[in-house]
Amino acid sequence: MHVVIVDPSRVVQQKLAIELQAAGCYVDCFSASDLALQYIETTRSVDVVLTSLEIEPIPGLELCWNLRTFVGAARPLHIIVMSSNTSERALAEALDCGADDFTVKPVRHEELTARLRAANRIITMQRQLVEQASTDYLTGALNRRAYMATVEQRRSELDEGDNLALALLDIDRFKSINDQHGHDVGDEVISAVARIAGEEAPIVARFGGEEFALAFPVLDAPQAAHWCDVIRRAISETEFIGSNGPFHITCSFGVAEWPAGETLRNALKQADKALMLAKSSGRNQVIVADFATIEPVRISAA
Ligand code: GH3
Ligand code: MG
Ligand code: MG
Repeated sequence: MHVVIVDPSRVVQQKLAIELQAAGCYVDCFSASDLALQYIETTRSVDVVLTSLEIEPIPGLELCWNLRTFVGAARPLHIIVMSSNTSERALAEALDCGADDFTVKPVRHEELTARLRAANRIITMQRQLVEQASTDYLTGALNRRAYMATVEQRRSELDEGDNLALALLDIDRFKSINDQHGHDVGDEVISAVARIAGEEAPIVARFGGEEFALAFPVLDAPQAAHWCDVIRRAISETEFIGSNGPFHITCSFGVAEWPAGETLRNALKQADKALMLAKSSGRNQVIVADFATIEPVRISAA
């Protein structure tokens, strides 16, 4: 477990760090709460924050509140506060400000390691829940909700002038694959498509059935279309084994840029229009929707 200790006393920091390292933890120590906050915000590996309430420049309760606010529901972070103030009011205040646990100073070794074991159980469970809520069971790709959140997050991290391209991928005539080879082989095809797409696209989600959404941060639509075409070819060259022997499949793609100032939903609508055109004009091809001209551009011939 990665633990951050926040305490004004270097002696206390050192004592706790030695104990936690002996218990197998990776430990960072901070005397200043603002630096600790900055570090935890940008270091996603931090699992536990063990903070004194008597710290500066951000007071302990405020630190708890800030940590709780920015980690949100998707990042498990266990906050244990330490204080020499043993009043019920101090305990209630700390918990109300977002702390998970409270321990009295000076912290006793056995109690602390037991609290960390409890923290580990909770964090492990939270991680499993977050993973289950954000991934597709069959392919391990993101689900639709996680895709929307991930792509929105990437957009917010990029500069306004940076590109971000989206693509929708739909397996061609998938119903006949199911009909000819059975649902289990159909499932294998869906999993293989997710895996192959993941080799080139940084963000891959299963939107449902045999349809996937991809995202390419910092690429414009023609660049993303190039990578979609690489995926298209790789899929078409993959051999599957069905009930009547080997077979091949193809996929169609619709690509659109997500310009700054536009909504993600609208950008996906553009990609969907391009996908519909790819389907209606021959399948096994990549088509780019152009926000500026609204004229779709074919990247690869069917
Ligand atoms: P098109 O080229 O126009 O995309 O035709 P299509 O047959 O791929 O499209 P259609 O939407 O008609 O059929 C999709 C099929 O996907 C229908 C459904 O039974 C099947 N399907 C949906 N989810 C799953 C799944 O999880 N596993 C399997 N094996 N099949 C699924
Ligand atoms: Mg299909
Ligand atoms: Mg479909």
